[in-house]
Amino acid sequence: MSRIATTGEVLQLIRSGEATTRAEIGRVTALSRPAVTHRVNELLQRGLVVEDAEGPSTGGRPPVRLRFNAAGGVVAVASLGASRTQIALCDLAGDVIERTDLVIDVEEGPDAVLGLVMDTWEKLLEGRGPLAGVGLGVPATVEYARGRTESARVMASWTGVEIPPRIAKRFPVPVLVDNDVNVIAMGEHRGVYPDQDDLLFVKVSTRIGAGVVSSGAIMRGALGAAGEIGHIPVRDGGGVLCRCGNLDCVDSVASGTAILRTLRERGRDVETLADVTVLVRQGDAETMAVVRQAGRWLGEVIASAVNLLNPSVVVLGGDVAEMFMPLVSGVREVVYQRSTQLATRSLKIERSRLGPGAGITGCALLVIDHILDPDAL
Ligand SMILES: [Zn+2]
Repeated sequence: MSRIATTGEVLQLIRSGEATTRAEIGRVTALSRPAVTHRVNELLQRGLVVEDAEGPSTGGRPPVRLRFNAAGGVVAVASLGASRTQIALCDLAGDVIERTDLVIDVEEGPDAVLGLVMDTWEKLLEGRGPLAGVGLGVPATVEYARGRTESARVMASWTGVEIPPRIAKRFPVPVLVDNDVNVIAMGEHRGVYPDQDDLLFVKVSTRIGAGVVSSGAIMRGALGAAGEIGHIPVRDGGGVLCRCGNLDCVDSVASGTAILRTLRERGRDVETLADVTVLVRQGDAETMAVVRQAGRWLGEVIASAVNLLNPSVVVLGGDVAEMFMPLVSGVREVVYQRSTQLATRSLKIERSRLGPGAGITGCALLVIDHILDPDAL
């Protein structure tokens, strides 16, 4: 390190295991002994670091090892879905301490939903602490810097709502809000593919959205709307009018809603995506064909994204990914046909392994990365 290392950077060294004794910190940072002591004491006082007595002995007194203290604080997180919300407390390593699910319609609006979420956090927090931060994933486009929801289509009553100030009134800690698909993408990247720095996560549920991890970080774009692939049109979609007013958006022909509509138009008795999943598992030929065609349309849009971003892995998640086989076959067929050879040479297309828990993990990491950032400490 060429300049004077900060307390935050010292914590980074301890967290990563790069330097875990005062002497090692001194060597790596070139800080003087009193400067190392000062920074380590600050971290000990804040409960972010603890001392482990036994280090490897080299004869004489073993050096005291320093360890990041994941129990030094908790973060409160919530992953809001259209009808179900996951609420949890996590430690500073992102591991879930306690989790509960609420059945609540997001359309009830921010006052009702956020009120209920905050009441739940308060209950979970009894006898625990200190609260270090709050993280939320919401099923809407989010202007990330302000935590402001933008999309009017899924959560009409949430348009233009700045969420952080509403939470900070009751919980005066850093509050971070992101699009639900971005937090899941982060959860998949860090939880399942930590070595793949370029990952595209596509959520196929009642709607379609994507989260882009580029060089290890979420790519948000100028306002935070990057990855909104649902309204990219496909070729030969049959002229379906999308709720955005355009024709043949991938959302209108390949989402869970579209699959259900197509099957019903063909006279099939399907009420929910779970019914479709059952038919796929039974190997019903017509259902498999409809899901596979949805996969092909989805593949068209993913192929363009692959050409543009060159990810090493595409992860498909959401309810519809439950129908994995025909969907992924359709996606693979088109992506390998239409993406450049170089972009697909080592490309993997996989189904989400974390499932619904990825949202909670992603929200926790969003907050932890922020509060433990060397510049923020
Ligand atoms: Zn559209």
